[in-house]
Amino acid sequence: MTRMLIIGPPGSGKGTQADRISERLGVVAISTGDIFRANVKGETPLGVEAKKYMDAGDFVPDSVTNKMVRDRLSEDDVESGFLLDGYPRTTAQVDYLDEILAKGEQKLDVVLQLTADDEELVHRLLGRAKDTGRSDDNEAVIRHRLDLYHEQTEAVVAKYAERGILTQVDGIGAIDEVTDRVMEAIKAAQAA
Ligand code: AMP
Repeated sequence: MTRMLIIGPPGSGKGTQADRISERLGVVAISTGDIFRANVKGETPLGVEAKKYMDAGDFVPDSVTNKMVRDRLSEDDVESGFLLDGYPRTTAQVDYLDEILAKGEQKLDVVLQLTADDEELVHRLLGRAKDTGRSDDNEAVIRHRLDLYHEQTEAVVAKYAERGILTQVDGIGAIDEVTDRVMEAIKAAQAA
């Protein structure tokens, strides 16, 4: 049983690594970005609301995001653990997640942060934009998303560091190499 978070700046490969961790640990990976994108594609009311913010590289408001996460975490498949990818991104979301977990008498085991240099990330994301056509992958929006990460999400990382459950992994390198580092770090954190 593992309950964990993966945090990283846009372009750090957290979605790719999350899928691999999920497979290896046998826990469900929940990506708030993927849930939003699926809703945008399906043109649901949630998707229509979220799209405005996503296209600008802004955070979707907590009033929308928190409820969506709470609902997802009440589903049966999270009973054997979960890996949250892309949430929490603000300290207010940390507080909200704390409440959800406290109600279920649950706690997080590991918070994994993938690190990478901003210029490398911009370079990677501009490359990804060509392949995926993601509407939030142009340079101005990419830089805005990175700024938000530094301004808001680094404070989230600091909170988990204070709690002693943070483990950091260098996200630069071949995908398989990063996965090896990630799995080692999780093992070490679980043994601690
Ligand atoms: P991601 O795929 O994790 O990079 O997320 C893509 C976009 O979805 C972000 O740029 C935000 O607009 C939105 N998003 C994802 N997770 C959150 C969150 N925890 N809080 C607010 N907005 C989010």
